[in-house]
Amino acid sequence: MITRSPAPLQRHHDAEPLELQASWQSQLAGAVRDPRELCRRLGLAESWLPGAEAGHRLFEVRVPEALLARMRPGDPQDPLLRQVLPLGEEARPAPGYVADPLAEADHTPARGLIHKYAGRVLLIASPSCAVNCRYCFRRHFPYAENAPSRAQWDETLDHLRRDPSIREAILSGGDPLAASDRQLAWLVERLDTIPHLKRLRIHTRLPVVIPDRIDDALLGWLGATRLQKVVVLHINHAQEIDAAVIEACARLRDAGVTLLNQGVVLRGVNDSVDALADLSERLFEAGVLPYYLHVLDPVAGAAHFDVPDDEARELVAGLREVLPGFLVPRLVREIPGEGSKTPL
Ligand SMILES: *Cc1c(COP(=O)(O)O)cnc(C)c1O
Ligand code: SF4
Repeated sequence: MITRSPAPLQRHHDAEPLELQASWQSQLAGAVRDPRELCRRLGLAESWLPGAEAGHRLFEVRVPEALLARMRPGDPQDPLLRQVLPLGEEARPAPGYVADPLAEADHTPARGLIHKYAGRVLLIASPSCAVNCRYCFRRHFPYAENAPSRAQWDETLDHLRRDPSIREAILSGGDPLAASDRQLAWLVERLDTIPHLKRLRIHTRLPVVIPDRIDDALLGWLGATRLQKVVVLHINHAQEIDAAVIEACARLRDAGVTLLNQGVVLRGVNDSVDALADLSERLFEAGVLPYYLHVLDPVAGAAHFDVPDDEARELVAGLREVLPGFLVPRLVREIPGEGSKTPL
């Protein structure tokens, strides 16, 4: 740790682009939320705008600058842009595609808690995300009803305390790391006191879309817990992993975190053996192991991303031919009522 810096650098105030200095909070607040702005920044033709606006009315646009900077301007097929650009297709009804495909509304014994699988529970630690992914299965989730206050958290935590079969608490959302460090530290301190809990898992896309989120304040509460720590990232394409993401992953690993990734196989984003193999290779370079590859959940508005199960199986078979086994993710589907993800 450097405690005394050398003579201060002579620097003009306007010499550095603002986003390099901005805190994660201001990057989050400053995310692009306007479909017209998104199209303009990516240099898309006017013809993309009506669709973008129609999709935006169903599920609002949200793209942080740090992610935008990894997209290729002028390319509407860019695999990162496709994940966040609303399209007119989202408004078209598709048979079997519904608002709550995982029937989560049936599994909330307490506010902010989803208990579907033995030994582990999901806690909705933040109602919002830093990025709005068009294929998200929670795009219609009634977050407002599921963002608990502290008093309600106490009730949720009591549910955990009373059930010794629960070994693992999974912070989810939305994106749990969109919550403040003060809130997260409060919550994790309480989880820490539940003797039968062994693991803290965090499902997040924030280290990918705003790598500066992995700051000292976060590493402070994360480093302080006695629980074993697993962070499951959500990355779908190698191009999402730049130097800043690799740095954020290194900081998490230094704090004793096991890093895993879950992706979704998406038409037009990563539906080739090459794209998925590059993703696995790049993940491992960042110290992240592939965990799950999900097939799309049939959420209304996302049908255009669908890759049929047979094709997804062939893609993973193709991965097995070119990658070591530990870089091949498990292909799974989530079926309402099942006690775990279902391997395909
Ligand atoms: C996916 C999920 C989990 C975690 O499942 P793992 O197979 O342990 O990764 C836990 N609870 C719910 C409700 C889930 O949807
Ligand atoms: S970050 Fe995850 S939860 Fe949030 S919109 Fe994207 S897929 Fe959905």
